[in-house]
Amino acid sequence: MESRRGMMNPRAAEEESSSDLVAMRRIQRLSSHISPDVTAPPSLPLVQAERCSSRSSKKLEVNGEALSLYMRGKHMDIQEKVFDFFNSRPDLQTPIEISKDDHRELCMNQLLGLVRETGIRPLRYVADDPEKYFAIMEAVGSVDMSFGIKMGVQYSLWGGSVLNLGTKKHRDKYFDGIDNLDYTGCFAMTELHHGSNVQGLQTTATFDPLKDEFVIDTPNDGAIKWWIGNAAVHGKFATVFARLILPTHDSKGVSDMGVHAFIVPIRDMKTHKTLPGVEIQDCGHKVGLNGVDNGALRFRSVRIPRDNLLNRFGDVSRDGKYTSSLPTINKRFGATLGELVGGRVGLAYASVGVLKISATIAIRYSLLRQQFGPPKQPEVSILDYQSQQHKLMPMLASTYAYHFATVYLVEKYSEMKKTHDEQLVADVHALSAGLKSYVTSYTAKSLSVCREACGGHGYAAVNRFGSLRNDHDIFQTFEGDNTVLLQQVAADLLKRYKEKFQGGALTATWSYLRESMNTYLSQPNPVTARWEGEDHLRDPKFQLDAFRYRTSRLLQNVAARLQKHSKTLGGFGAWNRCLNHLLTLAESHIESVILAKFIEAVKNCPDPSARAALKLACDLYALDRIWKDIGTYRNVDYVAPNKAKAIHKLTEYLSFQVRNVAKELVDAFELPDHVTRAPIAMQSDAYSQYTQVVGF
Ligand SMILES: Cc1cc2nc3c(=O)[nH]c(=O)nc-3n(C[C@H](O)[C@H](O)[C@H](O)COP(=O)(O)OP(=O)(O)OC[C@H]3O[C@@H](n4cnc5c(N)ncnc54)[C@H](O)[C@@H]3O)c2cc1C
Repeated sequence: MESRRGMMNPRAAEEESSSDLVAMRRIQRLSSHISPDVTAPPSLPLVQAERCSSRSSKKLEVNGEALSLYMRGKHMDIQEKVFDFFNSRPDLQTPIEISKDDHRELCMNQLLGLVRETGIRPLRYVADDPEKYFAIMEAVGSVDMSFGIKMGVQYSLWGGSVLNLGTKKHRDKYFDGIDNLDYTGCFAMTELHHGSNVQGLQTTATFDPLKDEFVIDTPNDGAIKWWIGNAAVHGKFATVFARLILPTHDSKGVSDMGVHAFIVPIRDMKTHKTLPGVEIQDCGHKVGLNGVDNGALRFRSVRIPRDNLLNRFGDVSRDGKYTSSLPTINKRFGATLGELVGGRVGLAYASVGVLKISATIAIRYSLLRQQFGPPKQPEVSILDYQSQQHKLMPMLASTYAYHFATVYLVEKYSEMKKTHDEQLVADVHALSAGLKSYVTSYTAKSLSVCREACGGHGYAAVNRFGSLRNDHDIFQTFEGDNTVLLQQVAADLLKRYKEKFQGGALTATWSYLRESMNTYLSQPNPVTARWEGEDHLRDPKFQLDAFRYRTSRLLQNVAARLQKHSKTLGGFGAWNRCLNHLLTLAESHIESVILAKFIEAVKNCPDPSARAALKLACDLYALDRIWKDIGTYRNVDYVAPNKAKAIHKLTEYLSFQVRNVAKELVDAFELPDHVTRAPIAMQSDAYSQYTQVVGF
């Protein structure tokens, strides 16, 4: 097998590299005639590139301190408090090999340690300072992702449902117990037969006016609550989502008021035994996140007081009358789910944290690892291979892009929690759905790319890609399946498109659509379609216009297609006929939002050298995306053939430039050593770290 490992015959390699150099020089000379602005060579291993062009080897000097200061969140202090605590407690660190049961106990102890020994009270932050809460969650997730998710179940899901769907009486009764972990709890929404389709849930909560109680029932096996975090071992309560059934005096005898949330005790507060009428089973060993105890719950006529209805959006009086400020089941359902977006915001944010870790490990390793090289010269760093740059540099640029976009999302979410502004609620709902799905899908794919980029050593468990990949994978599914969430983004865009034509208002985040309808949908300008100078291609206006043009076209076309197909297929059938188109539209829109936020972040960076590094990354992010979708732009002549070539060349050049500041860019994430904890990512003495791990 050795001979098949891509070992090139040295003579052939020598010939090839010298012919490369000749070709390089020719390309350079030719390109300087064709386009004076894009003269950079495609990237070569650094040593070769240095010989080829003085421009390409000119390394930007980045003020690393200024860059990391700009990147540091407002809440670095509390993150450091978390890291310091776990660094001082080896007994609370997760070993590489651990059984499911031990892992679950360890995660519970990690959570108890965090809350009871550091004095951090997460529920307070969920309620009053969500930005701080997400910062804690990011830090905790980087200690062990199971621990992060366990914390999310307790505070965002169980605690968040009580705070956001309940009223003062619930807050008074449960707040402290949830915060100090006396009241451990679950969020029991999903059933065996229904995950994404929450309105299809079948568990019932029937009001008994005689006893002033609700009776919770699982009517069939399909209605068993499934996958419920904290249920298998540690939870004492569950927020159970069930159809509210009220007795009526008509011939039907009952009325279904739709899905509501109820607090149901599931284990005894003192003995921790399962309560009568509740059956709990363990969902077993999972692909990842085995420190979280997911369980299945069945209810057999479990009685709870009327007060346990989380009654913010709908209430039942002592005599069984239903009241709500919202007129329809759909509106109440929308408001209920709207209050639960915090979990989604947290996942988008945490997913960027995972991307930072894996990109850092892969890039640090790629800077250090050397394979092959020009004849009679030292081997080159594998990050000097164009292919490695192609894998990792747009990823690094994207990590920065998503960082700024999710920071913006968290800010908007916090603002929404303070103001409860209706339009902001709608905005955050769509933005969180879009960013959660877009970012988690990207991170999931990138984890495999990073593993592969580190060769065989990427496969050693100690280097973390395996656990990161397994633990993160489900981010694409829980808190809303990504494919389902993207459809919500597309539906929202279509709604706003319709509003536009009916004269309604478009809010800030989406306002570019108003402009785009007028500007972008006119025929592409044949003059600008030919502009190919570097200044033009790196102009944020060109980049944003290109992104938005694509979104606007997709939007206008899909609206027309939906209208056409709905005549024959009906609304549901037409939507399904256009589904892939709709998903592309949603992704395109989210990319536009991400780029806009990145451009803004570059502009606002106070340090010139840090700003220049960010500008490189931002241009790479934008042009790489345009290049990946170049067929779309060429099809409508938005970009002429030579311009397409110039974009490609510039993208490669930018990849090379970003490679030259890659170290500074990953260092600015300021991930503590124990977070990257992969021996292959330890820059200075990687091999000794690594050999020690395996026992030499
Ligand atoms: C580890 C883990 C922890 C979890 N924790 C909890 C928890 O604590 N509490 C809780 O309530 N739930 C929890 N869940 C459940 C989770 O929220 C659901 O799995 C998720 O909502 C998806 O539902 P589903 O599994 O039924 O998938 P489905 O909805 O059946 O989706 C299956 C596939 O069908 C596709 N699909 C579905 N609908 C559409 C559509 N309209 N258009 C196109 N494609 C579609 C999806 O894209 C997906 O690929 C957890 C799940 C896991 C695995």
